[in-house]
Amino acid sequence: MRKILVSACLLGEKVRWNGTDRAVDDPRLARWIAEGRVVAFCPECAAGLPVPRPAAEIEPGADAEAVLAGEARITTAEGTNLSDAFRRGADLAVDVARAHDVGIALLTEGSPSCGTRSVADGRFRGRRVPGRGLTAARLAGAGVVCFAPDRLEAAAEALERVEDAAPRPSGAISDAECPHLSRTDR
Ligand code: SF4
Repeated sequence: MRKILVSACLLGEKVRWNGTDRAVDDPRLARWIAEGRVVAFCPECAAGLPVPRPAAEIEPGADAEAVLAGEARITTAEGTNLSDAFRRGADLAVDVARAHDVGIALLTEGSPSCGTRSVADGRFRGRRVPGRGLTAARLAGAGVVCFAPDRLEAAAEALERVEDAAPRPSGAISDAECPHLSRTDR
């Protein structure tokens, strides 16, 4: 059974920078949880960032790929460079995806980690620009198809497709053995 990596805040965990969640109430997600498919994960928490934490954005004009390549930064409004933590969270997401045979991901829109289509513009004024977060970019590069919560129908179709495909060698470990899973998955 292929798994679905889901941003922990979409599952009601209050792990966002401001201590809130972005819980999604949808029967498809509820069914996936009941089936044991959902792997809850927060890359920023996995990287050791606290809750709450200062908001951070990819610097203006740059993108996730540039940050991953060390050519741009993610900073707080005060200029604290958090790029290493965000890169670490993205790398851990790929580790978790590989360990648990994740086929698709459902990720929170707008986040510098989890955004799949938009991120903040880097000027801390509440505006978004097209782009994706570091974790979404890393997961996509690892072959995990990523969706925002408003694309649950497309996610369900993609899950069927990857389920029909031959399973990948997973090197799977048990959830209890995985040090990076969000607490709702244990
Ligand atoms: S890093 Fe992702 S999972 Fe964690 S709070 Fe932000 S959007 Fe949610």
